[in-house]
Amino acid sequence: MIDTHAHIDADAFDEDRDEMIQRAFDQGVEAIIIPAIEPKRFEGVLSLCTKYDAVYCGMGVHPHNANDFDNQAETFIINQMSSPKVKAIGEIGLDYYYDFAPKDIQKQVFRRQLHLAKEFGKPVIIHNRESDADLITILKDEQNGELTGVLHCFSSNINILQSALDLNFHISFTGNITYKKSILDEIVKATPLSRIMIETDSPYMTPVPHRGKRNEPSFVQYIAQKIADIHQVSVEEIITMTTHNAKSLFGLPILLIGFLIGLTAFPMYAQDEQEDERGEEIEVVAPQKPFPYSRFIGFGPSVATNTIVETLTSLDANQRGTRSWDGNPAFGLSIAYNPLEFLMVDLGLMNTRNNAKLKNADKVPGTPTDPDVYTVAHLTARAIANPRGKVSFFLSGGLNYLSKRVYATNVEFTDDSQLGFNAGAGFMVNIPTEYGMLIPIAEWRLDFETKNNVTRIPNVSPYNSWGNVEISTFYSLPKLTILWYPKF
Ligand SMILES: [Zn+2]
Ligand SMILES: [Zn+2]
Repeated sequence: MIDTHAHIDADAFDEDRDEMIQRAFDQGVEAIIIPAIEPKRFEGVLSLCTKYDAVYCGMGVHPHNANDFDNQAETFIINQMSSPKVKAIGEIGLDYYYDFAPKDIQKQVFRRQLHLAKEFGKPVIIHNRESDADLITILKDEQNGELTGVLHCFSSNINILQSALDLNFHISFTGNITYKKSILDEIVKATPLSRIMIETDSPYMTPVPHRGKRNEPSFVQYIAQKIADIHQVSVEEIITMTTHNAKSLFGLPILLIGFLIGLTAFPMYAQDEQEDERGEEIEVVAPQKPFPYSRFIGFGPSVATNTIVETLTSLDANQRGTRSWDGNPAFGLSIAYNPLEFLMVDLGLMNTRNNAKLKNADKVPGTPTDPDVYTVAHLTARAIANPRGKVSFFLSGGLNYLSKRVYATNVEFTDDSQLGFNAGAGFMVNIPTEYGMLIPIAEWRLDFETKNNVTRIPNVSPYNSWGNVEISTFYSLPKLTILWYPKF
């Protein structure tokens, strides 16, 4: 569990802050994020981050304190942007309920801080009270595809929820969803699990059953439980999902063990039978989790530099050697299809001209002026280790169909085609945009031929008297592909 919003720097915790934080860790809270409120408390927030490994913060000025946002505060925030413990700009936003600062100033300060978030690539933690219309207007206006963040303590209506989701924001719920009079059940239900986070907003908003007492991060489990009840899934699932969402939004360190637990907690299409405590058989259908990045069919161009490595074995003399043609430009196209979250199938073409060989033409008498041309069609599967990450790593493998036009070393034109195979590894970056997903893929691929060529090699150094040689070839391609997955 991650308490994504807790003001544990507040005076209310002065008496027992350390014990209170320890209680949270004892209850399974993995991390706590403190959103700063006002410049005079910045140092206090930062010192808690220094003291505890699992405590992080946002830097920003709350709408209540908008009058305190000046150049000095802005410079302080900017100077903290490189700190590994500062994970967000926040808490920022609008509050027309208390109206502690004039609306104009609130809006202006909100925008300035949204600009900082975009400039430094940080998510925002947004506070909104009775200011729905202006808030959405500003967010729409500022969303350039780069803004990410969370609407914390979400208590608005379904239209605002839809607008926030459309604008790519996460939604965080707190203690008020547990109150008897809460009208938020429908809102919680309508929020996809891939966008939900949990928070306490300590020391305020204490959830049932502790309502009336001071709130603290160890109570965040009650929020998870209430969301689980509303979505009719297990609390473990809500914990896994909200933890994952918080880690990826705020860029918190991901422990491998947590990732493995997460994997086992997410059977893709599991449908199995379990026994409940009373020993009765019940059917459990694991609901399908919405995937944070929609990837179905994508396409796009590739560029690579192709190094052609040949192993030569003389059939007429006792000679063997290798040679390579480096840095040949290659261009191609790919169509990708994702049948499963962790599987991408890529069908494509890549064309290489052996310009490197051509450069040697004057040294080899009779070599024609045309470069060899290699056209390879590939069908590759990429197995993605962490498909829900912003950056996902993969291993790949598949089949090739290679067509070569070789202006061969014996100066005779040969046509050749054959089946081969490919293997590779790399990473991809998942960039959601207004127009769909954009996925740059950096991949190192090796293409292997399965059939050797026999050719007569010219009688020049270093191949004097080699006669007929058998050539086996493979290709090394560091490759960049940019796929675009349009929205369907
Ligand atoms: Zn707030
Ligand atoms: Zn707050």
